[in-house]
Amino acid sequence: MDFALTEEQSAIFDMARDFGAEHIAPHARTWEAEGTIPKALWPKLAELGFGGLYVSEERGGTGLSRLDATLVFEALSQSCASVAAFLSIHNMCARMIDAYGTDALKDRMLPKALSMETILSYCLTEPGSGSDAAALKTKAARDNSGYLLTGTKAFISGGGYSDAYIVMARTSDDGPKGISAIVVEDGAAGLSFGGLEDKMGWRSQPTRQVQMDSCPAPAENLLGEEGQGFKYAMAGLDGGRLNIAACSIGAAQAALDQTVAYMAERRAFGKSIDQFQGLQFRLADMEIALQSARTFLRQAAWKLDTGAPDATKFCAMAKKLCTETGSNVADQCLQLHGGYGYLADYGVEKIVRDLRVHQILEGTNEIMRLITARHMIQ
Ligand SMILES: Cc1cc2nc3c(=O)[nH]c(=O)nc-3n(C[C@H](O)[C@H](O)[C@H](O)COP(=O)(O)OP(=O)(O)OC[C@H]3O[C@@H](n4cnc5c(N)ncnc54)[C@H](O)[C@@H]3O)c2cc1C
Repeated sequence: MDFALTEEQSAIFDMARDFGAEHIAPHARTWEAEGTIPKALWPKLAELGFGGLYVSEERGGTGLSRLDATLVFEALSQSCASVAAFLSIHNMCARMIDAYGTDALKDRMLPKALSMETILSYCLTEPGSGSDAAALKTKAARDNSGYLLTGTKAFISGGGYSDAYIVMARTSDDGPKGISAIVVEDGAAGLSFGGLEDKMGWRSQPTRQVQMDSCPAPAENLLGEEGQGFKYAMAGLDGGRLNIAACSIGAAQAALDQTVAYMAERRAFGKSIDQFQGLQFRLADMEIALQSARTFLRQAAWKLDTGAPDATKFCAMAKKLCTETGSNVADQCLQLHGGYGYLADYGVEKIVRDLRVHQILEGTNEIMRLITARHMIQ
């Protein structure tokens, strides 16, 4: 058993961290205030191979393992978890097209998705179904040339911003087995969007409802087989959960590094505050929590990479552990900054706000426990 990153893995991490420090961190607050990420950023990330991290190399992707991909998200999140998490969603969708798309769809969509001239969004949640995702009601009716989709998707990251949407929709009434995954392209007739959601964190990402009213999609836009869409959507989430977990670890690590530096400078009662043993213990506890969560995350990624039968359980457990650890560490870092932690200029309050939603999306942490327990009592 070797816990060390290879030279190549360290290089991937450093490349992502350095890119973030130069191209993301200086602008993260402005993008948050503007409620959008400039589209010009994405092709620059794509030049590093980040537009198709685990799209196969034969299709022009980077063909990374899940473990390697978590390094990218951990490193980018040191600059901004909101931007990194958005990139994760695009990658999850690109992978779904590569894995299940028709050749015609791959030929048409993948090159621009990989260069990030086009951005992809994932549409599962509806106003009436979140955790109980298989209860979704959006319908995809067959017509001569393909499908007509009708329904509303809620909370869609990139809604009204992205160029294509992978929509999980009902092609029959047969529970989860009646759900298909269909790509709906921007500009399609009957496709419209709700207003911009005003959120606690992830504010640079536009989140809107995606509304479809007899919205056409050609038959070649069906991913895989009819009725298998829920399975594909859930398979995509295993990797998505690892990425979100990595985003929490990366951003919390940035908060901790900043806090250690701040405590060496900040003085109280005649000494720098890092000399108080009670506070040193808190630093040590945060370091232990982050290191152990990171190790657990990488084990879960390795399980997914190696096709371990309990990979889904480990992805769920890692998502819960890392997102709660990340939020806890970020919150304590804010506390150790005193009043300054509450000021936007110091950057920690943004991390606290951005990380909170990681406990809610890609399956809530209650659902992560449900998945874990289900595997235990089977
Ligand atoms: C900023 C943001 C971005 C998002 N982006 C996307 C996106 O791009 N695409 C997409 O499809 N979705 C997206 N979502 C939706 C997200 O995945 C859902 O919000 C999430 O799955 C929870 O669903 P819900 O909000 O309907 O909560 P509910 O399912 O209504 O849950 C409410 C509460 O009940 C708990 N609960 C529900 N069922 C159980 C149970 N069986 N046992 C125990 N507890 C339970 C939940 O854990 C939660 O605490 C996003 C959400 C947010 C906030």
